[in-house]
Amino acid sequence: MRIGSGWDLHRLVPGRALVIGGVDIPSPLGEEAHSDGDVLLHALIDAILGAHAKGDIGSHFPPDDMKWKDADSKALLKAVLEDCPTSFVNIDCTIVLQRPKLREHVDSIRASLAQLLDIDVQLVSVKAKTAEHCLAELGSGEAISASVTILTSTP
Ligand code: MG
Repeated sequence: MRIGSGWDLHRLVPGRALVIGGVDIPSPLGEEAHSDGDVLLHALIDAILGAHAKGDIGSHFPPDDMKWKDADSKALLKAVLEDCPTSFVNIDCTIVLQRPKLREHVDSIRASLAQLLDIDVQLVSVKAKTAEHCLAELGSGEAISASVTILTSTP
C-alpha cells in the first residue's frame, strides 16, 4: 500500500469556466490558471505523484511552458497516469468553495473522477464545504481549494 496527498488552490475571476473534477459548474467566476485550472484534478495529480514519490505537478507541467497554456487538466491527469500506473484502493476529496453550493454537483464530480480513473464510483468520495466566510479569499468566494488523499496498492 502507498498513500498520496495533494492540495491546490486557485483564485476565482470573471470570464473563466469553473471546472471541478472535469465537470463544468455554472458560476459567474472560474479558476484563474495557466491551464484550465481544475483545482480538484490538480490536487489529485499531486496525490498520485506523491504516492509514487515522483515530484509535483509544477515539476511535470511547468507553468511557464506554453505547451500547457489552457491545457485540459484531464490530459494532464492522463499523462501522469501513464507515467505512474496506479491501482487505486480509494480516493477521498474535499473541496472548499464559498459559492455556488456544490451539493447538487457532487455526484457528477464523483462519476467524472471514477470515469477518469477507471474505477468504481463507490471508491470515490467527494465532500464539499464552504469556508464559513473565513480564510480571506476562500471565505469571500474569490478562491477555491481542494485536497485529495489516495490509497494505492502495488502489485
Ligand atoms: Mg492548480
